Amino acid sequence: RANRMFKPHDSIIDVNGVKIGGGHFGLIAGPCSVESEDQIIGIAQAVKKSGANMLRGGAFKPRTSPYSFQGLKDEGLDLLLKAKKETGLPIVTEIMSTEYLERFVEDVDVIQVGARNMQNFELLKELGRTKKTILLKRGLSATIEELLMSAEYIMAGGNEDVILCERGIRTFETYTRNTLDISAIPVIKKLSHLPVVIDPSHSAGKWWLVEPLSKAAVAAGADGLIIEVHNDPENALCDGQQSIKPSKFDKLVDDIRLIAQAM
Ligand code: PEP
Ligand code: MN
Repeated sequence: RANRMFKPHDSIIDVNGVKIGGGHFGLIAGPCSVESEDQIIGIAQAVKKSGANMLRGGAFKPRTSPYSFQGLKDEGLDLLLKAKKETGLPIVTEIMSTEYLERFVEDVDVIQVGARNMQNFELLKELGRTKKTILLKRGLSATIEELLMSAEYIMAGGNEDVILCERGIRTFETYTRNTLDISAIPVIKKLSHLPVVIDPSHSAGKWWLVEPLSKAAVAAGADGLIIEVHNDPENALCDGQQSIKPSKFDKLVDDIRLIAQAM
């Protein structure tokens, strides 16, 4: 079902009126994690003003260490809803377990499946029974074919609203957190009709690489970007080193508009 053969035209996915795919650009921005009401509402207002059309923010965080900040969980979802109410931006947030599925279906606009859960097939099957848009991130060491098969798990259940996300993969290179596989954009677009968004933040792991990688992604034909933005990166509870400030994001949006126009 994810295969181009079934649909020669690009899929356009509608998230509460915000379209992505088929020439519609999804600009998702926000902090790695929801930390407080002031933080999430402040960032949501700033990124909206710059042109973001969806808000990201983790409430349940898949951290490498169990001693790291794990997210505000239910309270984080409550705060995302407040930010949505303030700004009108649809919210994108990660689900880690089917335990919270009901709450996510009720309150979240785009349910994110993180890289670490790309092959959590039971979770994918459950999401396939919902009507929610799913943002499916490529696994740390997953091939493009494997990413598409995971999308297939969701779509096989009847839910065709899947957005694919390239967020960098593990290679021998350690300077960057991951290696952005820019070819994944044209390859996925050849194989599938689903929209592809790029996450330059987790690809790079460094804030100053977010701008060049975002530009490359737009030039290569990405349908959207998901970017970590934080008002105070030095003191962020998660992924501060790869988060850009709202002022940088504002400038970046202007730059990528020019690239998109030139294409
Ligand atoms: C995230 O988006 O904050 C995240 C944890 O991403 P990934 O699953 O790609 O590592
Ligand atoms: Mn993050």
